[in-house]
Formats: sequence, C-alpha cells, structure tokens
Amino acid sequence: MTTTLYTPDRDEFAALLEGEPRYRLDQVWAGLYTQLAAPEQISNVPKALRERLASELPTALTQVVRRVSDGGDTVKYLWELHDGSRVETVLMLYPDRVTVCVSSQAGCAMACGFCATGQAGFTRHLTVGEIVEQVVVAARDARQMDRRLANVVFMGMGEPMANEAAVWSAVERFHGAIGLSARHLTISTVGLVPGIHKLTERPLPVNLAVSLHAANDTLRDELVPINKRYPLDALMDACAQYLAAKGRRLSFEWALIADVNDRASDAKELARLCRRFRLPAHVNLIPLNPTPGYPTVGSPPARVQEFRDLLVSLGVNATVRRNRGTDIDAACGQLAAGQPVTLRTRPA
Ligand code: SAH
Repeated sequence: MTTTLYTPDRDEFAALLEGEPRYRLDQVWAGLYTQLAAPEQISNVPKALRERLASELPTALTQVVRRVSDGGDTVKYLWELHDGSRVETVLMLYPDRVTVCVSSQAGCAMACGFCATGQAGFTRHLTVGEIVEQVVVAARDARQMDRRLANVVFMGMGEPMANEAAVWSAVERFHGAIGLSARHLTISTVGLVPGIHKLTERPLPVNLAVSLHAANDTLRDELVPINKRYPLDALMDACAQYLAAKGRRLSFEWALIADVNDRASDAKELARLCRRFRLPAHVNLIPLNPTPGYPTVGSPPARVQEFRDLLVSLGVNATVRRNRGTDIDAACGQLAAGQPVTLRTRPA
C-alpha cells in the first residue's frame, strides 16, 4: 500500500517527524487539516521539511475531471488513483449547509441492479488516505467559495461497511483533525449487518443511513441482492441496536422505482416495518435516477408526493430529496467512473 499525504494519523505523523522539535507536529497537522494547505504552503515550517514531506508523502488523487452544475452549487470530481482506478466525489452547496459525498471503494461488490456503481462491479477498497483526501479537497474548494464544509456522507461509490476499518479511520480524522461534528457525518450502508454491529461498538455517534428500497424480503432480495445474506429481520434488529446505543438519527433511503416499490401497498408495508421494530426512522425518498444498465424509470413527481403523503399519514417521517447533479452524472447512484466522460448540455 502506498503511503500518501493523508494516510498517517497523528501518531504516525509524529513518528515521521522524529528529530524535529515537538511543536512541529502541531504546525504540520494544523497546516494540513486546519489551513487545508499543501505541505509546500505550510509557511511556518522550514522549507527543507516542507520539501521532504511533499516528496515522501505524495497526494493520492489526480484530478481527471471537475465539473460544475446547478448554477455552481454542485461540483463533481473524477479522480484517478495510483493504480489507475477511478472514483468520484460530489460537493453540494446548499443555502444553509455544505455537504460532500465521498467514495469508500473503487467500484462496488453489492451488485444492486439499479445503481451505476453496482453495475460496474468491484475494483478495490480505498485507503484511509484516499478517503480523507476527498474531504480535504472538497473542504478547500468550499473555503475558496467562502463556504464551510460541515457534512460528510458516505454515499458515493462503494459500500462503506465492506471497508469499515478504513472508513472508521477516516471518520476519526474528519472529527479529530478537521473538526467536523459526529452529528454531521453519515455512513450509508446497503445493510451489511456485521458492519452495523461493528459501528455500534465504535465510540463516535455518527448517523446511520440504510438503503432500504423495499420492506419485504422478496422484493428486497431482487433490488438489493445482499438482502439474501442479511434479510430484513436481522437488518432491522441491527438498526434498533445502533439506535439504542447511539441515540442518533437513523434514516432509510428509498429510491422510488415506477411500479416496483412506489405503490400504496409499499408505503404501508414500510410503515408496518418501522412500527414492528419501533424504529423512529426518517425516510429519504428519491426518484430513481436513470442509469445505463437498468431499464426501469423513476417514479413521476405526483407519485413521489403521494407516496410521501401516505407515509406521513401513517406516522412515518419522510422527505423528498432534491435531485442534485443529474446533468453531470453526479446524482445518487449515477457515479460510475468506468463510464466514458460525456459532456452534456444542461436542460433548458
Ligand atoms: N453502498 C452504500 C452507499 C452508496 S449509494 C449504500 O448502498 O447505502 C447511496 C444511495 O444511492 C443508496 O441509497 C443507493 O441505494 C442509492 N442509489 C443507487 N442507485 C441509485 C439510482 N439510480 N437512483 C437513486 N438512488 C440510487
């Protein structure tokens, strides 16, 4: 594994700086994670050390494409890694908050048919350095736009709970070094039960999002194949334990697919599931984004609204998520680095 600039944690960095005065570690750490500077730019550190750091600790991400949409409010980055694999990151600027959506793996092994990353298959896990760098770059970009990045969601490419150790080290870095609150960090999982248990034991109370999409095992087996290994009962138990341990917000992601999981019976089934497990979950509804390998379309807006209203009338908290970055293939489930880069014009 290559060591890159954002790989070492604070103790490992201390070891790298052996022989330097003790305050050097604070200077370099603050330079990297508070000022968000490149080593060459950490001006209170001697030039020779800056040069040494820059040459011994190369960055992990080479920018292939940086594309902006939604009037400048969505930025998608396509990165190339040392081995040629490619991953994507999406920065989203809202009036009241700035959020970055990061990738945890190159590709994904979960094979959800409606997801572009799932269609492309698995390449490898990302390292902690590769995950952290995505956030540092986005935070730096946000700062240049006079905004402060405060939220990280693991909703880019990959299944974070299949790469739990690296994801957790990254979470600790976001919290301890960059200073992001655990309340503002969200890990989204397809429902890997052992990963949720592991997360329950971890100290920081991050938000858990579960990509549910179906509230019965027959349909969920089809949409989210890993459900065959970890069916809904086991998944809901794991979620309940997480909630009990953390008192944090739990959300369910539900991509609305026309005539597949958007009927009144689906909403009722979901409400029953939440009731049965006493899960005060918040449901995020999003009409399915089109991807090349899945013929079915997303639910039309009226159906989305009906589905939401029905859930709410059944006592389930639900909101419709606005679709960001559709025109630059940066919307949920559209991240697929293997795809040729297509330049599109924005719809009028
Ligand atoms: N592997 C993790 C995180 C990445 S995906 C997970 O599954 O939770 C982030 C969200 O986008 C998931 O809820 C996923 O199911 C959803 N998604 C995937 N493809 C989509 C599509 N085409 N349209 C809308 N949402 C999609």
